[in-house]
Amino acid sequence: AVQLPMSEVDVLIVGAGPAGLMMANWMSRYGIKTRIVDKRGTKIFNGQADGLQCRTLEIFDSFGFGHRAWSESNHMLEICLWNPDSSGVIRRSDRIPDTIPGISRFQQVVLHQGRIERFFLDSIESQSNIRVERGVMPIQLELDESLAEDPEAYPITVTLKHLSEAEATPDQGNGQVANGLFRSNLSSDDTQELLQRISLDDKANTLEVVKAKYMLGADGARSWVRGQLGLQLDGSSTDYVWGVLDIIPITDFPDIRMRCAIHSASSGSVMVIPRENKLVRLYIQLTTTEKDGDQKGAKVDRSTITPEVILQSAQRILHPYKISYEYCDWWTAYQIGQRVGTCFSARERIFLAGDAIHTHSPKAGQGMNVSLQDTYNLGWKIASVVKGIADRSILKTYQSERRRIAQDLIEFDHKFSRLFSGRPAKDIMDNEGISIKAFKEAFEKGNMFASGIAVNYGTSMIVAKEGDAVEQGDGLDVSATDKTLRVISQQSLATSLKVGMRTPSFKVLNQSDARPWHFQELLQSDGRWRVVIFAGDVSVPEQRAKMWRLGERLAAPGSFLQRYTVSGARYDSVFDLLTVHAAPRIETSIFDFHEVFRPFDPHQGWDYWKIYVDDQSYHEGHGQIYRNYGIDPAVGCAVIIRPDQYVSYVGTVDDYDALDRFFSSFMTPASQRPADQTSRSTRKLAN
Ligand code: FAD
Repeated sequence: AVQLPMSEVDVLIVGAGPAGLMMANWMSRYGIKTRIVDKRGTKIFNGQADGLQCRTLEIFDSFGFGHRAWSESNHMLEICLWNPDSSGVIRRSDRIPDTIPGISRFQQVVLHQGRIERFFLDSIESQSNIRVERGVMPIQLELDESLAEDPEAYPITVTLKHLSEAEATPDQGNGQVANGLFRSNLSSDDTQELLQRISLDDKANTLEVVKAKYMLGADGARSWVRGQLGLQLDGSSTDYVWGVLDIIPITDFPDIRMRCAIHSASSGSVMVIPRENKLVRLYIQLTTTEKDGDQKGAKVDRSTITPEVILQSAQRILHPYKISYEYCDWWTAYQIGQRVGTCFSARERIFLAGDAIHTHSPKAGQGMNVSLQDTYNLGWKIASVVKGIADRSILKTYQSERRRIAQDLIEFDHKFSRLFSGRPAKDIMDNEGISIKAFKEAFEKGNMFASGIAVNYGTSMIVAKEGDAVEQGDGLDVSATDKTLRVISQQSLATSLKVGMRTPSFKVLNQSDARPWHFQELLQSDGRWRVVIFAGDVSVPEQRAKMWRLGERLAAPGSFLQRYTVSGARYDSVFDLLTVHAAPRIETSIFDFHEVFRPFDPHQGWDYWKIYVDDQSYHEGHGQIYRNYGIDPAVGCAVIIRPDQYVSYVGTVDDYDALDRFFSSFMTPASQRPADQTSRSTRKLAN
């Protein structure tokens, strides 16, 4: 037999959609040896998902490209609800804010998925040698389970096939308008067909074997990786078909530049999404395909769905207003069920994320956002394990944290679909119809969920919630953790900085130069843990003494800062120690703080970017971060924030032991890490 070329990689990613790209992006930040392959010859250029929720924008900002999405996108500020009046004519019945005011420094925007993929590609390229390898797909996968717990092992063996250009560019039909049928799941899945085609094609006949430590299946709703693992999605047996039309509309409908949910009396409903470049997207639920038990769903006749059919539907719903177009940018018929996987990984070695593990309707604009957030959750964990910083046990928190989100999403989608697609009730006796009041309430509630801000991860070794009640997360045996060692937060010290949730942002001033910063801007996604000391009013001797006591312990030989930082690396390569105090700025200087909070570098002097103050700025008001977080300046607190901005722990300022115990429960001392990873970590994570 011919020996195939063989290579080793730390992480292999299959699929370069949003979920796969976010994963590669994290790997680029940690300097992890990674390959990312996609069977398609190109990225997508228009259409598909477009809504970016405010949490997603916060994440983009933490990677340094939030401003690109913010400036190119269309901003959605208001939702208008249109419903039939007593004579059956549609009227605007309500206006509500699109993003709940005050929940984030960003609001929901829309920009097509192709641009988002571009931002990721640029970001990955700027940080690493990782490049998406297009026209490459796996054809064989094996996991040696006996090696699953060995940190040095490469238990995954994958055979990759390089496709020819023709294979990687499936026929898009010869329509003049780009359409989503290219990657649509309405057309039969072409993975099998590609597999067959390549076996006959001599030109593209290169195979190679890759051994990997970890693997991600981010290969979309029809995931090949999921199939190989024998994992399934559970959920409703109904598939909905959505018509999606991206046009520059010519219309007399007054709210066409608002996000609208329009229910007609008897012609169905349409969701209007105003887009970038004068575009407007219309979403219409076209049909439902009922599934017969476990049998395949009734085949939808694709030829019956055309842009004209979608437009005519919209015209009926919008009547008496008129709508037409001359320019259509993209359209698709998008078939989707509401399903979620029971198991998100095989032995915490091969993981599934994004559409590969949950599918739902496009209405709430969640597909891309939740998929991105899956791997935003997973990426830093895998990278930390590969580098030897963290124990493999943290990988269990991926499923315990994300499966609940996926389940909530499916539940939300279920409720919302019915309300969106149902016919409005004619009167209170009309039980078949849906109540407009219920729809509005669901919309308002749904907005909080959809924003991504409401995510609240349960107790685990990396989320030290208060109280004895240990939430039994999915697949996560927290009860096994020794309770006497378990670190427990005191949420009352920062009532609105919730353990398990993402860190909200308010302005603070740099103590040394008075510049205002949004606190989140200091929490870049660079792989570091943040230990934030809210030292309180340090002009009061008691507060100052607490801060000093903590400083002494942190600076002492053998403190966790030292144990988990590679010798010779920058002190802040694993932990970024930040201080926010509440004494008057002009009466304070960084020299009032223990040196560990403002470290000295013999080549660069003091670090002026570690100490901040809650005070009035010259031009941007007073951020009131203590008040907004519910922290008493006379008491203060110490906070641990994960590399993905979620709050892990809140405790007293000078409880050094709790901080140490928290990190000791899952981190590996630098002296025990594999040598090659140690040197890489020094290079990549040090500023
Ligand atoms: P995907 O974006 O599907 O990416 C998967 C990637 O894996 C693709 O690049 C694919 O080529 C690759 N791949 C698949 N199989 C293999 C294999 N065997 N080997 C190698 N590579 C493979 N969401 C909305 O919110 N609104 C919309 O209007 C909307 N419209 C959509 C229209 C279409 C046609 C589709 C397919 C999806 C649409 N979505 C929409 C959903 C949204 O695009 C997804 O939720 C989101 O892209 C999920 O990201 P992902 O990375 O998990 O998967």
